[in-house]
Amino acid sequence: MLHARIQGNKLGNFDIYYDSTINEQVWAGQLKTVDSGSYYNVWTSFSVTKRSARKQSEEGPGDEFGPTNVLNFLDYKIQASVIPPRQLSAEAFVNVQAQADGARAVLFELSRFLRVKSVKCDGRSVAFIHNPALEGSQLSRRGNDLVLVVFPAPLKMGERLALQFSYEGDVLSEAGGGLLYVGARGTWYPNRGSETAHFDLEFRYPPGWTLVATGKQAAPAGTASDDPPMQVSRWISDRPISLAGFNLGKYFRSEAHAGKTLIATYAAAGVERTFPKGTEQSSLAPPPLRPSFGRSRETSVTVVSPPPSPARNAQTVADEGARAVEFFSKLYGPYPYSQLSLTQMPGDLSQGWPSLVFLSSFSFLAPEDKSHLHLSDLDTSLSSAVVAHEIAHQWWGDLVSWRSYRDQWLVEALANYSSLLLLESHDPARFTAIMQRFRDNLVARNKQEREIVQAGPVSLGVRLTNSEFPDGYEMISYGRGTWLLHMLRTMMRDTEPAAARSQPISQEPFFRALLNLRKQFEGRAMTTRDLLKALEAELPHSAWHNGQRSLDWFYEGWINGVSVPK
Ligand SMILES: [Zn+2]
Repeated sequence: MLHARIQGNKLGNFDIYYDSTINEQVWAGQLKTVDSGSYYNVWTSFSVTKRSARKQSEEGPGDEFGPTNVLNFLDYKIQASVIPPRQLSAEAFVNVQAQADGARAVLFELSRFLRVKSVKCDGRSVAFIHNPALEGSQLSRRGNDLVLVVFPAPLKMGERLALQFSYEGDVLSEAGGGLLYVGARGTWYPNRGSETAHFDLEFRYPPGWTLVATGKQAAPAGTASDDPPMQVSRWISDRPISLAGFNLGKYFRSEAHAGKTLIATYAAAGVERTFPKGTEQSSLAPPPLRPSFGRSRETSVTVVSPPPSPARNAQTVADEGARAVEFFSKLYGPYPYSQLSLTQMPGDLSQGWPSLVFLSSFSFLAPEDKSHLHLSDLDTSLSSAVVAHEIAHQWWGDLVSWRSYRDQWLVEALANYSSLLLLESHDPARFTAIMQRFRDNLVARNKQEREIVQAGPVSLGVRLTNSEFPDGYEMISYGRGTWLLHMLRTMMRDTEPAAARSQPISQEPFFRALLNLRKQFEGRAMTTRDLLKALEAELPHSAWHNGQRSLDWFYEGWINGVSVPK
């Protein structure tokens, strides 16, 4: 790897990298600090291997670990103790298989807040370095934390190894209201990015807490004869998954069913300390002390509304979740896992992991709680769409993942569009209003008076976020990505023979294609080209381009473009 830091007279300090182990070997950029924070602005990033441009765009640039991944993960067994408010300690047993000859040292991601005590390979202690300063590597660019494990001998292709990591540290924090914030959610166990594997997780945690993890709960939580006594629960993945995690809190549980799938919500009695306090402007006319012929004395006072109680609204969220699972199962095939847990998480971020959704406290608010926050009508609809959005990630993001950062927009756009389709099914006017809002956001201007859409095409992925467009990735992948899917869907529907146009939504060519895409890619990663190929297979004849079943024009003009649909 080569890293050159260059001091330019005009541009200031910037970096140029060449890294032969990754797919886009050459890149250049610069760290820039503005009012809203520091951003690494990536100016360019590309591959120099001798693949034709067409082949490259078909195959995609590959995952960040490069074209040949040295290790294949077979399964994980993790035994963890979680001691609120902060501590996690764990033993992770990982079976891997070498995919190539010769590697002597392999990088794993693991939170910098976890201290590695030992690493063993086939029962023998091996050398490791935690958080090495590999400045400029693809991983440090993504801001993740690393452990380098040094094997006793170079790996041989096909060789199986049993690794054991022992570590502990403070990765949780207490948020108030019976909630914990699980930091390092994706790096609490050693992993290498988006590899899928089977997970068998066992947790010990004190009485009074409820812990929910990815996978199927093997048996009701029991008690271990530890001193002090601890609860024990075990969670086993239904199928290989790319992310395993857990959430815990002082939860109340509600449940609903979508067919045979159990949807359980876990919500606390309260919200985190930092949750915005709702207020109500009320005009209170005090009772007159004596009859008055003039205007009665009126005072306007601010009444602090009662604190929201997510637990009280948990059943509604479970029912909403069940409706979303039913709706998406009709479009994209059966729900991929045996159960779905929707768990409250402090903060305004939500994430949909395989069978486990981390759902912001905001999503557990009852309508009257939301009204105290003075959200606009559309914002209320958008915030209600979050539950469905995260559930749609069970299909798009979890079951079918994305190949490289250039394809990540696909799963955001698919999840977002899916949540709006559910809305459209019962409130088409609101669907139209939200699509219009996304469009307005794209032509809104940033501080430099440039339209947000000028941040770049969806295929730049997280590079869209930079010092000039601090929300670039979110605005473009959600907003423009959703529009791209809507254009494809309506174009395919409207070019169908008239007789076919009144069919139910699942029979539209766009959704037939997505169902095929799911079947073809479940448990694997897709590229933008893969989506287009699936759509081309269902493309109505009158939408063919120059006699070809091809969406190349859409790829070049729209996916790699920045214009806003009219
Ligand atoms: Zn999402």
